[in-house]
Amino acid sequence: MAAIVGPKGLARSPEELAPWLTDWRGRYTGAAIAMISPASTDEVSALVKIAASHRVAFVPQGGNSGMVGGATPDKNGQSVILSLRRMNQIRGISAEDQLVVCDAGLILQNLHEALDEHGQRFPLTLGGKGSATIGGLVSTNAGGTQVLRHGAMRSLVAGIEAVLPDGSIFSDLTPLKKDNRGYDIKQLLIGGEGTLGIVTAATLKTVPALLDRCVAWAGVSSPQAAHQLFQYLNAHENQYMEGYEIVPDSCISAVLQHIPDTRAPLEKATPWNVLIEIIRDQPSSPDPRDRMEQLLSDAIDQQLILDAAVATSEAQAEAFWKLRDSIAEAERAHGPALQHDISVPVSAMADFIVEAAGQVERKFPGTEVAAFGHMGDGNVHFHVKAPEGSSARSWTEDAARTITPVVHDLVIAAGGSISAEHGIGQTKIDELARLSGAARLGSLRAIKTALDPQLIMNPGKLVPLASREPAS
Ligand SMILES: Cc1cc2nc3c(=O)[nH]c(=O)nc-3n(C[C@H](O)[C@H](O)[C@H](O)COP(=O)(O)OP(=O)(O)OC[C@H]3O[C@@H](n4cnc5c(N)ncnc54)[C@H](O)[C@@H]3O)c2cc1C
Repeated sequence: MAAIVGPKGLARSPEELAPWLTDWRGRYTGAAIAMISPASTDEVSALVKIAASHRVAFVPQGGNSGMVGGATPDKNGQSVILSLRRMNQIRGISAEDQLVVCDAGLILQNLHEALDEHGQRFPLTLGGKGSATIGGLVSTNAGGTQVLRHGAMRSLVAGIEAVLPDGSIFSDLTPLKKDNRGYDIKQLLIGGEGTLGIVTAATLKTVPALLDRCVAWAGVSSPQAAHQLFQYLNAHENQYMEGYEIVPDSCISAVLQHIPDTRAPLEKATPWNVLIEIIRDQPSSPDPRDRMEQLLSDAIDQQLILDAAVATSEAQAEAFWKLRDSIAEAERAHGPALQHDISVPVSAMADFIVEAAGQVERKFPGTEVAAFGHMGDGNVHFHVKAPEGSSARSWTEDAARTITPVVHDLVIAAGGSISAEHGIGQTKIDELARLSGAARLGSLRAIKTALDPQLIMNPGKLVPLASREPAS
């Protein structure tokens, strides 16, 4: 393998490997024979062919910002991390077709900056944009804060290039509006978490760059009030509203305490908050600031909100988003918490937050629930914070066994999903097995074993197999 990638593409020493063996949340630390970083699709293909003939397992890794341990190898040290970081070029931008073709290792923020110069925008963003790569975003079917208007990765990927587990190159980068050649392999790879192959490039849909945007922060009394406000705004502004996030006061307090250069958005704290973004990307569309002020003033008259602040500059808009995007980091600094990325129908979310939080806090005294995030998509991060003084690792391990099944049972009872946007990885694989019916599990297993019969692609992730031993 070293001969294929050259010295630049191979890391073997413990010092070089260490940063890539632990996941972003610090929950898992694995071991690996080496980290190999190819520079082209042909190199990936040659590497996978060797891995297939020797039954060596690959763990694909992009920016290692995933939330479910999907890019972290297991502890047995028999697999190789395959990093896409050296494949980070933009292959082409077509403003006319509103498409960009890029390598899988390109970092999201770099894509945003490059498209801006062409008057285009890739309408997906998230707090980890400085690390997350296109390959990781495709493979986790990532969501983020603009799903409300543009959908998750699944709606934004127009074509894919990938190396399959036998080393063959699946080249499907040309976007076709109509293509009925049977099963959509591209869609299998999206959200496949590297278990069906290595994504090497993607064709992504773009939209015109923003001409203007208005970001506002509103204080509300409860999740139900936040939902009423959402319905009101949706009825009047659904075409231009790109973000609708809910944040409880406890999350804001943690951000203000732990993240430098942040300040409270409202004069007086309110129990719940929502962050709203309305945009303008066509000269003919209405001025977003006028619309926002009018809508929020009507909402105050109708007693839907307690207080509101409309950003008066781009810097203030960024400051509001920084409060929202820093929640995960602030929480990490604050103390142990158990994270659940869940979805229920949009109309059921407000009641779910209140009722499920009450049930969990009563059943596990001393815990505190913080549910925040993409309320407009019916997706919140339902975090259960440890009682004061708990030791991080041991509490989290115990709580994952006792609290998580309770949360997930409540989600399933509400008709929801135990993974809205972060994927399954290693964190949720047992829960997926526990909570899925035979049809879902059987299909997942059949697809996995048909395409990767030797189980060399990211073993132990996503698909609950009877035996999850990696190949050796
Ligand atoms: C602060 C913060 C905020 C975040 N907010 C959000 C959010 O709002 N919404 C959201 O959806 N996610 C969010 N995330 C999670 C994370 O950014 C996404 O999951 C992202 O898609 C991971 O990209 P990555 O390149 O870091 O992938 P990695 O973490 O390296 O890998 C993730 C998974 O994809 C696989 N993979 C990576 N590259 C490839 C490839 N080229 N081919 C095949 N498989 C591959 C890995 O094996 C692994 O299973 C956030 C993360 C952080 C740190």
